[in-house]
Amino acid sequence: MNIHEYQAKDLFRQYGIPVSAGKMAETAEAAVEVAREINPPYILKAQIHSGGRGKAGGVKIAHTLEEVESAVQELLGKVLVTKQTGPQGKTVRKLLVCEAADIKEEYYVSVSIDRASGKLVLLGCRDGGVEIEEIAKVSPEKIIKTSFNLQTGLKDYHVRNFLDAMNLPYCKELASVLHGMVRLFVEKDCSLVEINPLALLADGSYLAADAKIGFDDNALYRHPEIEEMRDVHEEDPYELKARQYGLSYVSIGGNIGCMVNGAGLAMATMDMIQSLGARPANFLDVGGTATVERVSRAFELILSDPEVRIIMVNIFGGIVKCDVIAQGIVEAVKTAELKVPVVVRFEGTNMEAARDIINASGLKIVSAGSLYEAARYCADYVSSGGAQ
Ligand code: GDP
Ligand code: MN
Repeated sequence: MNIHEYQAKDLFRQYGIPVSAGKMAETAEAAVEVAREINPPYILKAQIHSGGRGKAGGVKIAHTLEEVESAVQELLGKVLVTKQTGPQGKTVRKLLVCEAADIKEEYYVSVSIDRASGKLVLLGCRDGGVEIEEIAKVSPEKIIKTSFNLQTGLKDYHVRNFLDAMNLPYCKELASVLHGMVRLFVEKDCSLVEINPLALLADGSYLAADAKIGFDDNALYRHPEIEEMRDVHEEDPYELKARQYGLSYVSIGGNIGCMVNGAGLAMATMDMIQSLGARPANFLDVGGTATVERVSRAFELILSDPEVRIIMVNIFGGIVKCDVIAQGIVEAVKTAELKVPVVVRFEGTNMEAARDIINASGLKIVSAGSLYEAARYCADYVSSGGAQ
């Protein structure tokens, strides 16, 4: 789960990471009210879950309360299109109104997990404010990495090495920013804590001018205060529904809907579709206990994505029996009045019985003999424009 910059900055305050004074506002009146309490010049920042807001016109400077008001009019309700939002963009519903800092230099710093070594890693770059992914591609030598053990934590020598490599002075202020980031990362079960830019101000002090935090969804149950920060407007509507149904679902944007039992098999299914030159619409793991109820919910979910042209069901019967699932599929297809074809592939326990159930149902469900066959059918169907 991700949160907004203003929420991330509230957490930064709790962890002693300096940020400029300011608050979130959803109306022009509220924004002016916030501005009254702080010092000009002001900066107004669109609160959407995306970077690149600056370039997309989502960050505005205002010198007077009148300018604050007109900046709000420009920003609120605007659809911002950034590299990260996709072409459809995101609607601005909230703004962060804060004191504009007098920035001299901008750096990048973040804490994340280095999966290869199983350690935490501080990443840094002297060229901040810009897209770190771009720098990593063009000049990877500019990215500074200092990894450390989760158990032993961030030690002073890590901080010294990191700041040294960044060509920044070792000082209490910067050390406290880095320690604060790591403490926040660990205590709140984050997947990312990023400051871009970490700003050096004209008076020589440092400040987090932007804040981005991602959380490990599997640990959210330990942090109700973080769960409360969820902004449903920022989430994929299908994924939101899936979470309510207790299904593992990620929408991907293709047109072959997938329903699979088991995460590994779901990955293999998507790979197979992709390798045939087609695109899966989603990852969907109905789980090991695929009951009629769950299968129906899964169909409902897949069908609410208007891009889906065909559905591929791939079931491996281990503990779960294929015939039970087949029963579920038949019932679900009957009630959902499907307008798109369904292809099913059963393998494992009671697979013959499952195929019999599908064939006897009289429904237009295609039975495939293998994963390849099922994916081939779907890929051909989509590429031929559905004229099969
Ligand atoms: P992003 O584009 O979505 O990453 O949003 P940022 O919060 O990083 O803002 C983009 C740019 O706006 C930054 O790189 C800064 O150059 C500028 N900016 C952000 N906050 C301030 C501020 O307090 N003062 C000044 N002068 N510029 C700021
Ligand atoms: Mn930024």
